[in-house]
Parts: sequence; structure tokens; C-alpha cells
Amino acid sequence: MAKIIAEKLVEADPQTKTQLEALKREIAKELKIPCPNNIWLLSALSEGLTLCIRGLDHLKINRLRNLLRVRPVRSLSGIVNVSVLTKPYPCPGSCLYCPNEPGFPKSYLSGEPAAERAKLLKFNPHTQVKKRLENLAAEGHSIDKIELRVIGGTWSFYPKNYQDKFVASCFAACNALSIAKNPQCSKHCERTKSLEREQKKNETAKCRIVGISVETRPDYINEKEIIQLRKLGVTRVELGIQSIYDDVLELNNRGHKIDAAVRATKLLKNAGFKISYQIMLNLYGSSPARDLAMAKELFANPDFCPDLLKIYPCAVLPEAPLYEIYQQGKYRPYSDKKLIDVVKEIKKITPPWVRIERIIRDIPSPRITAGAKGISNLRQIIAADMEKEKWRCRCIRCREIKGEYDPKEKIALVRRDYQASNGTEIFLSFENESKTKLFSLLRLRITNDGSNLITGNTGENMVSPLRIENDTMRANNHSPLQNTVAIVREIHTYGLQTAIDQKSISAQHTGLGKKLIKEAEKIVREESGAKKIAAISGIGARAYWRKNGYKLKNTYMTKKMRERIRAC
Ligand code: SF4
Ligand SMILES: [Zn+2]
Repeated sequence: MAKIIAEKLVEADPQTKTQLEALKREIAKELKIPCPNNIWLLSALSEGLTLCIRGLDHLKINRLRNLLRVRPVRSLSGIVNVSVLTKPYPCPGSCLYCPNEPGFPKSYLSGEPAAERAKLLKFNPHTQVKKRLENLAAEGHSIDKIELRVIGGTWSFYPKNYQDKFVASCFAACNALSIAKNPQCSKHCERTKSLEREQKKNETAKCRIVGISVETRPDYINEKEIIQLRKLGVTRVELGIQSIYDDVLELNNRGHKIDAAVRATKLLKNAGFKISYQIMLNLYGSSPARDLAMAKELFANPDFCPDLLKIYPCAVLPEAPLYEIYQQGKYRPYSDKKLIDVVKEIKKITPPWVRIERIIRDIPSPRITAGAKGISNLRQIIAADMEKEKWRCRCIRCREIKGEYDPKEKIALVRRDYQASNGTEIFLSFENESKTKLFSLLRLRITNDGSNLITGNTGENMVSPLRIENDTMRANNHSPLQNTVAIVREIHTYGLQTAIDQKSISAQHTGLGKKLIKEAEKIVREESGAKKIAAISGIGARAYWRKNGYKLKNTYMTKKMRERIRAC
């Protein structure tokens, strides 16, 4: 029955959710059945693709699937996010504001949706990934491109063999789902093989992990850690910065100073990682003026310049040591109104190459004693203010194209250069004329700071091809730019996620990524003197880079840059 309805809907080709709902009611009345729900229709539609509606237009089927999709926002950034929580484990930090609840990794609380899901599944990474992907698929999302977010405590403090097994299990879960329809494979799929074997399989699997992010402390980033992160396939690191003021860091018992963040940022950027900063407003010892000055410094000082930003206003929780200080009256978080004003001011000065990912943490309000207690919907509050006060946030998230793709809209290549951690960051993007919609982006880093590349004493197994290239150039001593390194740290096309083998009804698969790569290569050839370009690539994105002429070298995808032939 569901297939018959799905077929009728495909033929009618509704263009909006309202049209779809009206059609569903009409068909239900005609067939004398209750109005069908979307998940039921989606599963019929998937089966129908290979059965009775084979002859129908693929674009129409895709359009219908998009309208039926539950919570479409989950795949509107071009990928689906899958968060996996690590097991409870000690953290080397003892930050005042951080809750410690038995049975959960440090900083996570019962009642938080992600933490509850993970606990129910005994923090097993394989089951967490499997369940999440199955749910996303049932809701109609394409699960071809996955960004894996590993959350919980300080990742770099977990034993390395736990890390290896954890990540291997996540790859195994995706690989198993990719072939789960083959009954001969289903049993065998449940077993996790070595990290390398699971990664190799994932390069061509249906559900590919195209990026992995982990959260860690800046003082745990060093060359050895970077090698481990690359071995796992990590492409993005979330650094707990919290404050740029040493006195605030000390007062909150952070255990490191800001110079650790500066050093970590540089090491990570030189190795090609995307960097997300977690900062806290409202900290013990800070003030609205200092918070705003901090944000200005983060965007303007080349020692910082994060690619992404997560803003977590400090909350007083009974499970954290700050609670006692609050009880003694020594700390008072500022009012919700002041907090909203600070976040708005930060949004107003955010550069167009930064993505503000979060402005509040998902802590259930009853758990909070004070601080950002009544504003869990801060994003909506600020969005309404922006509308009223007629200003826009220029960050990436606010400009991503999402579902508003119109193939007829004029778009242009935009280039923005800025200095960061002794290198030049070149942010290339395709945007509409008013620069209010962003379709696709690429981050290229060019640096001459050979001394800060990953050159450590790790010997032949060094992960970075950049070092190899540098060494060759140094030996040949040919160029004054002998230390020049060019690395693509990110490439992303926004809009509705389109399955790897499907026709596009969004900005994905329209060749924008390829054009950005060509432009980056042109810049490297004509402006940098680097002989090679490298790209940090998620394991599941390697095939994409291969198609563009890149080869795998020590976890990076690289391509030689032909020198320009000068006319006599
Ligand atoms: S380092 Fe992070 S997880 Fe550890 S105590 Fe501090 S805030 Fe909590
Ligand atoms: Zn924004």
C-alpha cells in the first residue's frame, strides 16, 4: 500500500511541504486509509526505487524524499553528523566549572541527549554509530557522507590502544551498514578488524567517514599527538580554549596558560587540521567587556584565528567545584540580558571565514543553578533580534545555502586572505552576488615557517608529506622559498546532502569543489613556489581526491605542481 501511495506522490510531484500534506490527505481519503506517516512512506520509497517505480524520474523521487525527510536540517550542511561518546575515564584537568558525574565522561551529564543515548548503549562505539545511522536513514537522510564527532572528556588522555579500537569500531560500523543488505556478510560485519583494514574498506564503502573531529586540551597537543591523530584519520580538532586571559585560566584552575593554545593552534594548522575553539563566556574572573575584547582578539590576532567557534556560557552546576564558590557569593554569573548582548556583539564582528557552531550548551535547564538558565533557545532569541534590528551574522553557518539552492542564481568565486600562525590562509568560496549565501568553500594554507612544521624526531614514519617535500627542497637548495608548504585544510560544499551516486538537486555534485581545487592549485603554482600541494583528507574522501589527480602519501593526499614554463 505504501508503495502505491509513494508512486502516486512521485507522479504528482509536490513542490512544497503544504502541497505534500494536501496530497497525502487526498490519497488517504481516496483509499479510505489513515493519513500515512513520512517514515513509512520513505521506507516504501527506498524499496520502490528498485521495484515498482523504477521507471520514474530520479529527480522527482529525490524531490519527494526531501519533502518527506524528518528534521531536514540534519543533512542540510552537506554531510550528516554522528556524535559518539567515549567511555567514562578520568581527565587530567580539574577546571572549576566542569561537572563530574559518576558513570559519564568528565564534563557530560545525565539528561543530555547524546550522553543518555551513549549510556544506554554502554558507550560501545560500534552500536552508537550503527543506531544513529539507522535512525538517520529511516528519517530519509542520505548517510553516504559522515562527519564523525568523538566527544567526551579529553581525547588525548585516553590510552592509545583504546583510541585505535574506538575509531576502528566506528569505521567498522559504517562498513557493516554499507554491505548489510548482503546476508552473507552480515555476521562477519559485526567484527572489527584492525584500524588500517577498516579504514581501507571505508575508502570505497557506501557510508564513508569523510571527517573525524575530537575534543582535547591545547596542552596535550604536540608532534607525537599529531601523528596519532592523523593515523586515526582525524581532520578537525576542537581545542578547549575557554579564555585567552591567563588570570582567568588560573582562577578557573585550567592548568595551562594561553601560550599552550597559541602553540597548539600553530602545530595543528601547519599539519592541515581544521580548528574549532571552545570558549566560555561569563567565567569566574571575566566580565562582559573582557569577553567581547577576547572575541575581538581571537579574530584579529594571527596567533588565534579559529576556523570554527563554539561559545559555551558558563553555567553553575551542583556537580562542579564552581558551585561552592557561587554559594559563598564570590561568583555571580551575569544576567541573561547581558549574555545575549555579548553573544550578539560577537556575532557582529565574526569574519566570513569562521563558522559559529554553537552559542549555548545543551544542558537541561533544571540541572543549572545559575548562568544561562532560561535561554536554552539562545539561537532563536538572537535570530529574532537580528531580524528586528536588521543586521546579519556573516559567519559560515548563517550563510550556508541549506535548502535554498537555485541553479539559476548567479554565483562568483570570492577570495579572502588573512595571516594566521605565521602563514597565509586563503579562504576561497562560491557565494551569491550579495555574499549572503555561501555554496562551497576551500581553506588553503601557505606557510614558509619550516621550523614549525612537523619535523620532530619521529624518524622515517613521519606522517607529513610536507616534511618530505621540504627536506628534498632543502637538500637541493634550489629556492629561496625552500620551506614553502601548501595544504588544503578544508573543502566543503553546502546544501542538502546528495548521495555519492545520485543526481543533484542541491549545490552538491555540481562541480564547485573541483573548481575550488583548480583555483587553489593555480594559486600554489603562481604565487607560492611550493612544488607540491597536500590536502588533509578524511578516509572516506580519499577517492574524491584521487579523482582530482591526488595520491596518498603518509595519510595526506598530495599532488605535484608542474612548474610554469616561461616563454623565451
Ligand atoms: S579539561 Fe575539559 S573535561 Fe577536563 S576538567 Fe577541564 S573542562 Fe572538564
Ligand atoms: Zn552566524
